[in-house]
Amino acid sequence: MFQRVLIANRGEIALRILRACHELGIEAVCVYSKADRDAPYLRLADRAICIGDAPARDSYLNISRIISAAEIADVDAIHPGYGFLAERADFAEVCRDCRIEFIGPSPEAMRLLGDKVDAKRTAKQARVPIFPGSEGAIEDEDEAVEVARTIGYPVIIKAAAGGGGRGMRVCRNEASLRSNIRAAQQEALAAFGNGAVFIEKFLERARHIEVQVVGDKHGHAIHLFERDCSMQRRHQKVIEEAPAPGVDRKKLNTVCEAAARLIKTANYAGAATVEFLMDEDQNFSMLEVNTRVQVEHPVTEMVTGVDIVKLSIQVAAGESLPLRQRDIRLDGHAIECRINAEDPDRDFMPCAGRIERWELPGGPGVRIDSHVVPGYRVPPNYDSMVGKLIVHAPDRPSAIRRMARALEEFEVGPIRTTIPLHRRLMQDGSFRQGGIDIHYLERKLKQETG
Ligand code: ADP
Repeated sequence: MFQRVLIANRGEIALRILRACHELGIEAVCVYSKADRDAPYLRLADRAICIGDAPARDSYLNISRIISAAEIADVDAIHPGYGFLAERADFAEVCRDCRIEFIGPSPEAMRLLGDKVDAKRTAKQARVPIFPGSEGAIEDEDEAVEVARTIGYPVIIKAAAGGGGRGMRVCRNEASLRSNIRAAQQEALAAFGNGAVFIEKFLERARHIEVQVVGDKHGHAIHLFERDCSMQRRHQKVIEEAPAPGVDRKKLNTVCEAAARLIKTANYAGAATVEFLMDEDQNFSMLEVNTRVQVEHPVTEMVTGVDIVKLSIQVAAGESLPLRQRDIRLDGHAIECRINAEDPDRDFMPCAGRIERWELPGGPGVRIDSHVVPGYRVPPNYDSMVGKLIVHAPDRPSAIRRMARALEEFEVGPIRTTIPLHRRLMQDGSFRQGGIDIHYLERKLKQETG
């Protein structure tokens, strides 16, 4: 096992990884930018090293500074968390060249599954259901039109290297497809440094269901069942839950097994998420693979009892997966609400500033993953999530009641947060029924503002 790990991240996920390291008897080295110099979790680190100024490119995205910190602290491994450098194959490669273990997949496996076109090809090999669409990247307009003719409109144009919900265009007819394809290629080149685009069938009313998987370096792979993340705003997840409500369990198990097969085919070691959209007839199509631990991993931890962050460290250290598929059972229901420092009454404008009041809920089945303490100042430089509230209960209705109760106890001020929105969503009839689609929240918010 590693003796010392550097955590190349900040905020709640840095604290989450630090806790996992300490439980495994590993020393945790934190890095921080000048904007985070007073972050309370730094006191828990065995060593904390300043790596630069507030802008992420000068600190958390700066590969040479992070590697320098790793060499100064003499660590065995680096955990990237999510965001920042987590999905940068070039960073994983630099780690390898410096003989520092990257806690995540090999650069080869990351490239294979991180590129959407390559991932679809590998998925096909592994018999994972994918969207009907182009085989590989689209060369020109005529090819796009030909593919659209066979799969039918509407179609969506996507960038092979796309991410963060950017670079996608929906086309409802041939004229729109013709006028969009070149622009999409140029936009992809400018935004992602790779002009490859592809098209696939666009689903009007879909649910987002994703599968947590973990592989080791000895060719084993398991799944930890699925999460439903359909409550979204601008392609950003707002609430996540496990298991997915109202879907045939047999069908879900088939998809979960396919996801495990995919990472096995890709020779993938580490934690990953295989994302799917499910249509109204409960047909699944793979969207993409995220080659890292995700924000919403705690809901899976609550229903399976597996510590995904610890597992990611253990497999990176070369250990075999300590669990077989049949050892993993679903227990009850878990929900996560992302608490963002944003004002829901002002179009979710980020609210940086000092948090004076921070009164946390507690009691049975309540978990908080957050780096915030009273008096904490939210820096304006990074994303606005200040914590995650997770509940676990024997079934979905009691999990919703528990979440509603916990949200009532949760008091934050004077900055505005998304807590009032979550309180309303726990009372929402469609959410309570289960099975909302990915555009539900946007429709609801639009209706309410007139
Ligand atoms: P990104 O990597 O930018 O997050 P994804 O491929 O994961 O891109 O897609 C992000 C979101 O875009 C999905 O969660 C969904 O809301 C929408 N989307 C993507 N592909 C389709 C599709 N074929 N049909 C309908 N919606 C889609």
